[in-house]
Amino acid sequence: MRLIFLGPPGAGKGTQARELAGEWHVPQIATGEMLREAVAAGTALGREAKRIMESGALVSDDVMIGLIAERLRQPDAANGFILDGFPRTIAQAEALDRLLKELGQKLDGVLYFDVSGAELLRRLTGRRLCRQCQTAFHIISAPPRRPGICDRCGGELYQRDDDSEATVRNRLQVYARQTSPLLDYYRQRSMLATIPGEGAIDDIRAAIRRVAAAR
Ligand SMILES: [Zn+2]
Repeated sequence: MRLIFLGPPGAGKGTQARELAGEWHVPQIATGEMLREAVAAGTALGREAKRIMESGALVSDDVMIGLIAERLRQPDAANGFILDGFPRTIAQAEALDRLLKELGQKLDGVLYFDVSGAELLRRLTGRRLCRQCQTAFHIISAPPRRPGICDRCGGELYQRDDDSEATVRNRLQVYARQTSPLLDYYRQRSMLATIPGEGAIDDIRAAIRRVAAAR
């Protein structure tokens, strides 16, 4: 099974990718995590990525593609993978097509996790942290016993600037702008399937299994 999971932050694709990768015995290839691992392992690309990140710049398409190429050549990815967070741009999608061709592999599908803007805002702005012990809560999915108070130490809970509505709205807009050409790219190639990303986690997983089985 060779799949790409696409979806905005908060769409829940990482959680589903982790579960299904285990079930299908294929690696979940999450680019954010991979960058951190490559840097820690000190590979040539990892050192390059580290240099770029330390200068405050965004990691370029070339570096991302290099990392993916390195990763897809590992033996555990020979029989499949779930790409989670890659590609982000058309250039990355084209490079991935070339790489898979080179490896003699074929993508089975691209699953887009569709979640309404209102629901994404609800999920992404709900996080609260303790000022004293930094324990994380979520006002919907992991609420503290007493509103605004840390269960562990009684400290005051606060919302990080990153989780404020204005910042989250901006992140979601940037994502939508960046990703809509990518959705068109895969739609034109009849690769795209939409997964309803709201509702019970098990129902969403069942929908993904059905789409994957039909590929
Ligand atoms: Zn606390």
